[in-house]
Amino acid sequence: MAEMLKPGATIGILGGGQLARMMALAAAPLGLKCHIYAPAGDNPAFDVAAAHTQADYTDEAALKRFAAAVDVVTYEFENVPARTAEVLAAIRPVHPNPRALAVTQDRLTEKTFIRDLGLPVPDFRAIDSFEDLKAAAAAMGGFGVLKTRRLGYDGKGQAMIRPETDLAAAWDKVGKTASILEAFVPFDRECSVIAARSANGDSAAYELCENEHRHHILARTTLPAAVPSALGHEAMAIGETIAAALDYVGVIAVELFVAGDRLLVNEIAPRVHNSGHWTIEGAETSQFENHIRAVAGWPLGITRRRARIVMDNLIGDEADRWEALLREPGAHLHLYGKAESRPGRKMGHVTRLLPENA
Ligand code: AMP
Repeated sequence: MAEMLKPGATIGILGGGQLARMMALAAAPLGLKCHIYAPAGDNPAFDVAAAHTQADYTDEAALKRFAAAVDVVTYEFENVPARTAEVLAAIRPVHPNPRALAVTQDRLTEKTFIRDLGLPVPDFRAIDSFEDLKAAAAAMGGFGVLKTRRLGYDGKGQAMIRPETDLAAAWDKVGKTASILEAFVPFDRECSVIAARSANGDSAAYELCENEHRHHILARTTLPAAVPSALGHEAMAIGETIAAALDYVGVIAVELFVAGDRLLVNEIAPRVHNSGHWTIEGAETSQFENHIRAVAGWPLGITRRRARIVMDNLIGDEADRWEALLREPGAHLHLYGKAESRPGRKMGHVTRLLPENA
């Protein structure tokens, strides 16, 4: 049996953004405290946590003090440096485990891991040189998506490859760095599945949701996804299979493409996820509460959806609509308390629950 934290215990969270903020907000009703660790900057999670440390992720003395002050460590972002996780893990349990970070920080390792589980992924090849790119593009019929292995997000570090693409320019665009070339997927929809796994190995997935992006940033999540229920169930099983294979504790998100009657895994985020914000009002237990429950060694809450859902991100000046949203019956407004609004910056979100048959 995994050790269960007692109410009053402290969860350490790396990262001070909105995901950490919503985790801390979910921990409070359960009688758990949070201590946020983040470098200098706009850290809206500090506003809602019992304690915070402002220091760099490379500051080993600060990391050690932080670890000693908390009961367990988790994080809100996947690019936690390996050394940071190692320093913390020597002192306190780190959930999800550092292997989940290592696998998901590198697109080649991640895609290989998923394929080796027998799960569907787009065809991909490792690209270490311009010669590799030319050969792989030719082998894929001239179409593909070039992605850096590390530190890419929201479409950054990517180049679309078509037969007419100047491959040298694409190689430049990704910084001539270790990459993968992935087959282009003519998908009908982009979806994601959020799964939770407890320290005892119990797992539960939320229903598959459908995501719309604008300028590579998530704009809207809707449920149910407009896919046959068999695919929805397959996606939920994929989420739970990946979590089990990583011996994962916490919430994990798996982004998928739906192409015809096929699902293909795009990527894994070893953390709570923007496409799961609907669960705060829309599910029996939110992704944030289930993450906190899992890392505390507690049993999971049920993941059942309560209604049809539309969740809209408030990006940049869209959050200026806050007053109108407050006046809209049934609109659940979340503002992240960020000091500065910038184009493309996630400032909040709004979730609407609609009757099942509307
Ligand atoms: P990613 O950072 O891998 O999530 O990719 C960002 C976006 O690029 C995705 O949300 C898709 O819209 C698009 N994309 C990524 N990979 C592919 C692919 N293999 N085929 C088609 N579109 C893709």
